[in-house]
Amino acid sequence: MTLTRTTCPYCGVGCGILAGADGTIKGDTEHPANFGRLCSKGTALGETLDLQGRLLAPQVNGCDANWTDALDAVAQAFSTAIRDHGPDSVAFYVSGQLLTEDYYVANKLMKGFIGSANIDTNSRLCMASSVAGHKRAFGTDTVPGTYDDLEHAELIVLVGSNLAWCHPVLHQRIAAAKALRPDMRVINIDPRKTATSALADTHLRIVPDGDIALFNGLLSHLAQNGALNERYLRDHVSGAAPTIAQAQQGNPRDSGLSQAELLEFFNLWSRTEKVVTVYSQGVNQSECGTDKVNAILNCHLATGRIGKPGCGPFSVTGQPNAMGGREVGGMANMLANHLDIENPEHREAVQTFWNSPTIPTHQGLKAVDLFKGCADGKIKALWIMSTNPAVSLPDADGVAKAISNVPFVAVSDIMARTDTGDLADVLLPATGWGEKDGTVTNSERRISRQRAFLPAPGEARPDWQIICEVAARMGWKDAFNFATPADVFAEYIASAAATMTFGRDLDLSIFADADYAKLVPTQWPRNDMRFFADGKFYHPDGKARMLPISAPAPRTKDVFTLNTGRNRDQWHTMTRSGKAPRLGAHLAEPYVEIHPKDAADLSVSPDDLVELLGPNGKSVVRALITERTAKGQLFTPMHWTRQQSSAGWVNALAAPVVDPVSGQPASKTNKVTARKFAAT
Ligand code: SF4
Repeated sequence: MTLTRTTCPYCGVGCGILAGADGTIKGDTEHPANFGRLCSKGTALGETLDLQGRLLAPQVNGCDANWTDALDAVAQAFSTAIRDHGPDSVAFYVSGQLLTEDYYVANKLMKGFIGSANIDTNSRLCMASSVAGHKRAFGTDTVPGTYDDLEHAELIVLVGSNLAWCHPVLHQRIAAAKALRPDMRVINIDPRKTATSALADTHLRIVPDGDIALFNGLLSHLAQNGALNERYLRDHVSGAAPTIAQAQQGNPRDSGLSQAELLEFFNLWSRTEKVVTVYSQGVNQSECGTDKVNAILNCHLATGRIGKPGCGPFSVTGQPNAMGGREVGGMANMLANHLDIENPEHREAVQTFWNSPTIPTHQGLKAVDLFKGCADGKIKALWIMSTNPAVSLPDADGVAKAISNVPFVAVSDIMARTDTGDLADVLLPATGWGEKDGTVTNSERRISRQRAFLPAPGEARPDWQIICEVAARMGWKDAFNFATPADVFAEYIASAAATMTFGRDLDLSIFADADYAKLVPTQWPRNDMRFFADGKFYHPDGKARMLPISAPAPRTKDVFTLNTGRNRDQWHTMTRSGKAPRLGAHLAEPYVEIHPKDAADLSVSPDDLVELLGPNGKSVVRALITERTAKGQLFTPMHWTRQQSSAGWVNALAAPVVDPVSGQPASKTNKVTARKFAAT
């Protein structure tokens, strides 16, 4: 059996895989992300390749159609809406599952040719707060960390990150490094005790959103104890004095930790030179997510613990190509190549490179607002690609209604029936993992190839090709005349080169002469280069910025705080992972973790059903009584959809509350009430 070298389609670790058409799956020992390791999800990929439930032909108004009619319908609906209502009357909602080539042409079409920035992505739910925090601190969305740093750190601080279930191979790498170096310390900061806490030397159970009080407290402690790097601050950082003054006004006990826990953490952090702070959704998915990111970055900048091996802040992304989407500007507040929509020179450079008729001068609608725009009637034509917002966004029932309110909806997907696809006027069959070719960028900026090892099923086509065919029908054939994904990748690399005159971080010159077919996993700008090693950042003065951050007011305790997240063996809405029986065996039904005291107060016994009521909906799930979740808090997985569990899917419960800077939904702190479910 010939095995094809490709990349896992699940999380942002981006593990290399050797895959065969017979379902053989092996970890790629030569891939620097995993060196042959895989997790349960990656290992079971071979069981997810059947065609059951696949969308194999286009559909128009619920009937099978040919490609010509389906593409004509999409192009005509978008052209008509733009003609009658202007470019901001249309929108794309895309996905971190798309490959970079798909993202590139979608962004080029919406921004350079339609002339709107109404393209946003489900990655908004994943890492938008980190993007915003990076830009505020560094001047660009630069991730300084590498996986290698995890193995060289003396102290790893995992904040709001259940790495053991959500980035399992990174967890495996840390566990292996810790076994070799018993002096390595791991601290897990999380309101919930998780599988990751078992690896940690210390689990610090903060209150929800207690991160800012904690990291402001750390900054204040560093200042009080002479542990700041004064030379680094003088030469490379602005804003330190007001930031420290603000931090000193806070009370670190608002984090929920005892004085002894705080002191132990502060002393360990300040006395350890090589500290990596890894953070993910527990930080990002918050009403104050961007501020949390900056509170963490402030501590690293204040001590110069950045730009060195084994040292630095490190945001790990949830999705396989969230990073690639950021690079090509596939978000409503970005242009392309890490450039800014609001900057006229940046706009001109991108428009000149694309030789395009237009370019938006203002940001578009971010995910939650985009669907509000659908509900309000502002959006007249919507194209959703490779994602299922009718169940995955907060206030999911409201989002489903909003989609129904749009006069024309196209959905590209691999599956025939999804909660979102059922609302479409036109369904476009896309190729899936193993059937399509392209590139993805993982959490450490490493670009790897996804390669096809199976034929395209039925009439399915790759997303980049579908987008280009619609663009051609809208009158822009020459600008979207790509024959292969390699052509798209080459233009993307050239576009980055053309805009490097602005001295930004996105230097992809290492890929300029690369053979696409043989492309090996490569970090940008170079495998051996470390961002910020020279102390140079991307603000106009060349310095990084520390930002004064205030901790949020303590939460009210009259309702439960519902945290949502992932199970170990499932991915998103289980479209793919739900096909593997052994993955389904891990946690087979929706559940809610509830503290024993809360369960007793509600007269809930093990295996009883619990009804959760949010402002916009309710859910009924099995009680899992455990001290892993603190009193007053609940946890439930977000994988089940309306189609899979009519009562047990949770995003209907959530209010569409977002971080005001990043627009990322606050999925960890939903306010709900709970009661024992009594069937009537
Ligand atoms: Fe795939 Fe992530 Fe598991 Fe690696 S850790 S095999 S990328 S799901």
